[in-house]
Amino acid sequence: MQTPSSHGLVVLDGGDGPHRASDGRRPIPHAERPERTRAVEDVLRGAAFADRLVFEAAPLAERDLVTRVHSPRHVEAIERRCASGGGWFDSDTYCAPESFDIALRAVGAAVRAARAVTDGEYASAFAACRPPGHHAERDRPMGFCLFDQVAVCVEDLVATGRASRVFVLDFDVHHGNGTQHLFEERADVFYASLHQSHCFPGTGAAHERGVGAGAGATLNVPLPAGSGPDLWLRALDEQVLPALASFAPDVLVFSAGFDGHRADPLASCELESATFGEITRLALDAARPSTGGRAVSVLEGGYELTALGESAAAHVEALLAER
Ligand SMILES: [Zn+2]
Repeated sequence: MQTPSSHGLVVLDGGDGPHRASDGRRPIPHAERPERTRAVEDVLRGAAFADRLVFEAAPLAERDLVTRVHSPRHVEAIERRCASGGGWFDSDTYCAPESFDIALRAVGAAVRAARAVTDGEYASAFAACRPPGHHAERDRPMGFCLFDQVAVCVEDLVATGRASRVFVLDFDVHHGNGTQHLFEERADVFYASLHQSHCFPGTGAAHERGVGAGAGATLNVPLPAGSGPDLWLRALDEQVLPALASFAPDVLVFSAGFDGHRADPLASCELESATFGEITRLALDAARPSTGGRAVSVLEGGYELTALGESAAAHVEALLAER
């Protein structure tokens, strides 16, 4: 394996089209919008540590990668809906004509980031892509999500022999029902989530600990509405980090949602931008004995643009500190 670059990789989703909610004629305001990844890119390009980042455009993922975790029927349904002009899958989740390619590019960003880390090119990589993915089920788009790009990149790492044990830490304020369900019967992929309780999608109770061979490899830590940095960091320290250290993964994958920020309109937690840097540092420290610092991160939620940019910058700066 080559010596990793001292820079961090940022894979950008490319912005090939708007993937913007519309009624077929005009845009409809929606929290999940193209400005989100542009806000992240602008803050990262202007950051004091920008000279330590390498920016790349995301490739389009091969369809075969996506069908490793989603059914062919699901992929075809999204492609067909986009080709016929787009529309709504449920009251939250839309697609535009461009969305199929944009969702494939989000998967491409996550897979590129994950392979770049496990192949030794970079110690850490961040995929700044949208729409988010962790609510997408094997057979159903949900919660703004079309494909679960974290699940696809994790499955790719395992299937290609790049990793044999992967720990997913999902700190989005919403529970990642899709990622949990896709891996809950697996002992080689640990899914841990910190999230606001009694919030969308309603799953992620503490008693959900995995199924069959995967029993014990799922960990949910629901936190009450109004929880701030103290509660989140204590839950991380007392519940998630011991599980992370004892699982001893080859690589740590962040499902990086920033909608726990106090300014975010979609939930009611009270995190500061800096909290996301702290979560990242603590998790990297706990994982280091087994990962050697290898960390992959994929953007999930975060809907207030200033908070999203600042929080993502705190997270990426902490990833860089790994060297
Ligand atoms: Zn979220």
